[in-house]
Formats: sequence, structure tokens, C-alpha cells
Amino acid sequence: MHSSTDLSSRVTEGDAESAADRPTTSFLSLPTWTVEDVRHSRGSATGVRTYFVRARYESRPTGCPTCGGVLVGHGRRMRRIADMPHAGQPVVIEWQRQRYRCQPCGRTIAQSCPDVDERRRMTRRLRVHVERTAAREAFVSVAEDVGLSEACVRAVFRDYASRQLAEPYTPQAPVRLGIDEVYVNAKPRAIFVDLDTGRVIELLETRRQAAIARTLVALRERERVQVVTIDLHSPYRNAVRAALPMAKVVADRFHVAQLATKAVNRARIELSATLPLAQRRDLERHRSLFWRRADRLTESERILLLPSWFASLPALRIAYELGQQLLAVYDATGPEDARNRLDAWYAAATSVSATVPGFETLLATVRNWETEILNFFETDGASNAVTEAANRQLRDLERIGRGYRFASLRAKALLREPRRPRLRHRRPSLSHPRRCG
Ligand SMILES: [Zn+2]
Repeated sequence: MHSSTDLSSRVTEGDAESAADRPTTSFLSLPTWTVEDVRHSRGSATGVRTYFVRARYESRPTGCPTCGGVLVGHGRRMRRIADMPHAGQPVVIEWQRQRYRCQPCGRTIAQSCPDVDERRRMTRRLRVHVERTAAREAFVSVAEDVGLSEACVRAVFRDYASRQLAEPYTPQAPVRLGIDEVYVNAKPRAIFVDLDTGRVIELLETRRQAAIARTLVALRERERVQVVTIDLHSPYRNAVRAALPMAKVVADRFHVAQLATKAVNRARIELSATLPLAQRRDLERHRSLFWRRADRLTESERILLLPSWFASLPALRIAYELGQQLLAVYDATGPEDARNRLDAWYAAATSVSATVPGFETLLATVRNWETEILNFFETDGASNAVTEAANRQLRDLERIGRGYRFASLRAKALLREPRRPRLRHRRPSLSHPRRCG
């Protein structure tokens, strides 16, 4: 392969279009390094097109670390160091590492360099890049992007996680906390999210109350927490009441809506048992009619389809209207309006709950969570929407990284920079007085 000693030359051939994109001398953008040559070719070990950068680090030690004696040059030895990818392709620095010999004591030493992580045989900036990207992407895809082995990426991330998440792990308490569940490796786990930043604070293996409480107690300055949104899961509520007695607990509105949906679905299935099979299947196909908000239906769905189903199943209309009425509690203009809407719903549901399958259970659940449902209107509309976003990312992660150990997934969740800071969405409303706290 052709190489050049002319420092003002550009990257040598390879393919013409990517060759001339950066002058050789500044290729690394690392001060105190001198680039002698850049080759762009297929790596013999990896088979991937790679930039090979022959370079020297231009800083010499002041004296022998053992005796302080004067050092003289003792030749160079090449060491390959992985660096940040360039134009989407891996970079390998062929470090022409200077060796020295101490004149008084005869010891030989190799040059050391703060830009290089000796143990990982990569630049420090690459290590930091791997740490960050491995938190949000599959190890294997990070490995491909930077030209390292998957095992190496995994090891770098494991080191990083054990430094960052060393026990005892005591994260800072957020002002508004979301606790939700997420399925990881086919089991429900509790996830804790800062609702204002979207940052995952903790991911637990279980949803057990004792584990939840331990996490809450471990929060630094936990008296800061003003609002906790949770799904309708009693162990969450019990743990929050015990550990954060000052915080307002809010039932997450999406989980309340889900309750209404489930009840309407269940009623539809039980009521349709009397219908002929073909009609039952037809109804199954139309199931979303009955839990979508009425204003999201098309005109023909609203005027033709719904009424035709209600004609054959009158009790389904009752279930439908109760479902819609519960969803409409969230249209309330304030706490008082919400209270009135909920009371009206109780009255309606109580009078018919015996005739609509499943609605007695729904009624009992809503009563059981009444305070937390109404707290939504006392807290400027706190919800787990951010948590849901974090959950989606985590599920993606699980899909691409099947076979990760739980500890790896937890570390990825905790060390990932949040993508969509809640603050950005909230800014327009900051001028309004907060109702909570
Ligand atoms: Zn010496």
C-alpha cells in the first residue's frame, strides 16, 4: 500500500470519494499528536474498510520515574489503538510509541499518553463514546459502528456501569416521580422515572412492595418528592404512603383509561355470547368502536355502526356509555368539576352495574382509587407519559438485545441520557401558577 511522508498530503486513495475528505495532518484532531500517514483500506482482521492512522505522540517524560535520571530515545514500537470512527468507518491509530532508556540506571520505559486507555487499547474519547452509545443501543451495533468486538463493547460498558452504579446506589430524589411497570425478559418489573427529565432512576427485578419501599427510602433528599404517579397497583401505593408520606399519589390517567377499556371489552365479549358465530366475529372486528372516544369515530361509525350494534345488544350501549362517561372525567376543568363528574359516573354505574357484566368490579376499583384519580386535577395534570416513553425505549432495547442479563438492561436503562426532556414540552405552561406543592 502506498504511503506518504508529505504531511500536507491528504488521505491516500482507497476509494476516491471518501479519500480526500480530511487533511492528513489534522486527521485525529488531537493536540500534541503528529500524524505521519493515513491509509484507507480493508482491515486484515476485520475485513471492514478502516482508516489506519500512523501517528506519534509528541510529549516526553521529564525524567526517569525511578531515579529521576536523564532519558534518551530508545527506538519506537508500534501499538494499535482504536479511535473514534471517521465518516462512519472505524479508525485505528498505529501509535509509533517512543521508548526511552534511563542513562544512570539503565531502565527502559515506554511513553505513556493520557489520550489512550492502555487497558482497553483505545483512545479515551472512544471509550467515552462507547459508554454513552452502549447505554441506548445494542452492544453488537455499537461494536459494528466503531470496529470493536461485541465482547469488548460489553466489557467497556460493564466497567462503566460498575463505576457509575456502585453500591450503595442512592439516586437523587426527583420532584415528580413516576412508578410504572415494564415487561423485561417476560416478567413485570417496576421502573422509576423522573417525570421532569425522563431519566430512569431505577429498574427493579420485581414489583414487590418491600423492594419498592427500599428504593424509595434510598432516594437522596426524598422529602423533595411532591408528586408520585403510579399505575393502579396497590403495592406501589402502600410503599409510597410509607416511604414518602408528604407526596401526593396520582393514579396515572392512561391506566385509568385502560380500566374503562378493559371493562367495556369484557362486557362486549360476555354479551356477544348469545349471538351467532358470524355476528360475534364481526363484532370482534369492530371492537375498537366501543372504547375509542366518540369524537374520534367517523360519522358513519357514529351514526350507523354503533346504533346497529346497540339494537342487537342493548346492554352494550350501557357499557359503552359508562366507559365514555368515565373517560370524560378527564375533560374536567378543575378539581371540583372532576369530583362532580366522578359522582355522576358513580350514580350511573351503580344503577346498572348488575346488568352489565364486569362493571361491579370496575366500580369497586374506581372507588378504591378515587383519591388518587382526583389527585390528577390537584397536580397540574401529572401523568406517566414520560414513563411510557422510557418503557417503549426499554422494550425496543429488549427486542434488539435478547439474551441480555437483567443487570445489563438495568444499567442501560439507568445510564441512558433521556431523549426527550419533559422540560421542553412544559415550557409554554411555566407562566401558569402550579397547583401542586
Ligand atoms: Zn533511572
